Amino acid sequence: MSDDADHIAERKMQFLFALRSRGVTDKAVLTAMEKVDRGPFIRGYFSERAYEDMPLPIACGQTISQPSVVGLMTQALKVSSRDKVLEVGTGSGYQAAILSQLARRVYTVDRHKRLVTEASEIFRTHDLTNITAITADGSFGLPDQAPFDRIIVTAAAEDPPGPLLAQLKIGGIMVVPVGQSDAVQHLIRVTRHETGFDYDELRPVRFVPLVEGLGRDG
Ligand code: SAH
Repeated sequence: MSDDADHIAERKMQFLFALRSRGVTDKAVLTAMEKVDRGPFIRGYFSERAYEDMPLPIACGQTISQPSVVGLMTQALKVSSRDKVLEVGTGSGYQAAILSQLARRVYTVDRHKRLVTEASEIFRTHDLTNITAITADGSFGLPDQAPFDRIIVTAAAEDPPGPLLAQLKIGGIMVVPVGQSDAVQHLIRVTRHETGFDYDELRPVRFVPLVEGLGRDG
């Protein structure tokens, strides 16, 4: 192997090792994360650090989540290949790209038009044709496409937003970080039953806040 190929293979091994050692054990999730290169989702100065297990700054003052957190959230969502998934908080588009490997269809919304435009461009150039990215205030969900089998929120809400609960199918699952933006937040898994909702608290996390309305560029 050339030095370059060696380096890429080693980087990939370290990336997958970090995921496993932080509790990402689901085979399908690991395969998806092995397949989708995080590099293109990070531009500029921080792009060199794309394969480290850390959150990094992206445009519009937002962050791409830590890969192991992406893995743990995806695992908690229990996505199947028949599922129609809504993601609130497109950001870089990385989480949506991972979901696209596991689900039938992914809708992802962000309040910043610039992030949606840049992510859509990556989806197009990488042939991720089952993702639709839309500029919208995701706290209201996506009524046109509802109901969803799975919903993932990648910004912290003070409570799971009512419209999102309403747009979840019976038997559906939503994963959402809940808590104040400057305090400890917890990742919550909500499961919808015939008669109501079950809530599981999974782990402490730290996310940027879910903000109402469109960004100034949106
Ligand atoms: N999932 C992303 C990281 C998300 S960062 C990734 O894989 O890179 C959180 C994102 O949520 C930010 O891009 C922010 O603009 C978005 N956001 C915050 N409030 C929102 C709202 N009400 N509706 C839609 N997007 C929102």
